[in-house]
Amino acid sequence: MYSKKLFLFDFDGVIVDGMNEYWHSALLACQKYLGSPEIIIENNHFKQVSNTFIEMRPWVKYGWEMLIIVHEIIKRENSLNNKNKINFQKKYHQNCKEILLKNSWSSEHLQTCLDKSRKYQIDKDFDSWVNLHKPFYEVIDFIERIKKDKIKSGIITTKGKIFAEKILSKLNIFPELIFGYESGTKVEIASELSNEYEILGFIEDRKKTLVDIKENNCTMDIPCYLADWGYLKKTDRNNLPYEIKLLKLKDLEQLVAI
Ligand SMILES: [Mg+2]
Repeated sequence: MYSKKLFLFDFDGVIVDGMNEYWHSALLACQKYLGSPEIIIENNHFKQVSNTFIEMRPWVKYGWEMLIIVHEIIKRENSLNNKNKINFQKKYHQNCKEILLKNSWSSEHLQTCLDKSRKYQIDKDFDSWVNLHKPFYEVIDFIERIKKDKIKSGIITTKGKIFAEKILSKLNIFPELIFGYESGTKVEIASELSNEYEILGFIEDRKKTLVDIKENNCTMDIPCYLADWGYLKKTDRNNLPYEIKLLKLKDLEQLVAI
């Protein structure tokens, strides 16, 4: 038997609600680093998160995709809005690819712009940047609670590790393990970890990621929980396959209460 026990957590939408930060950082990245002739950014844009952006967020896997969404929303012509968003969502990945191609962008370049935007804000006013994130305190309490049972916490995020670390330390959470997009896919990371730890659960708000975990031979035994409080598509809660369970914030404690 394994002697080391581990709980895995996604970060965005599971530990923090970063909606304000995503909008703000992606907008600033477009303004300062993207140099697109199709957009003009006004101060008003920064005042409130676009509803279309909020509606698009469940489709996002990697941070750089948020620059594409923001760019399309604030474009002067044929902008993405609440009327045409369904069409965009239907072919989400294809649309992202086409927009990259049309503008001669690469995903790596967009990710660099987003990371630079975050770095800029951190250097300028760290507290203001951190305060754009709203923690889910129930999850933070849960991480504290399992620590008492000698269960370690691992955070797997598609953010850069350094940014997740800064937010977590400000929230006074110090998980034993943190992995960012630099460490590979979530399945790869979970697979590596399963050689060393008994993984008691993985809490994530992206259904496809949990399906990928369940469809991989090395990780299929990990109990998977879809975070009901995260960025879910309307249909995500229906017909969850492979015994993936829908988890509500109030039921977190039950995961370790025996
Ligand atoms: Mg997430």
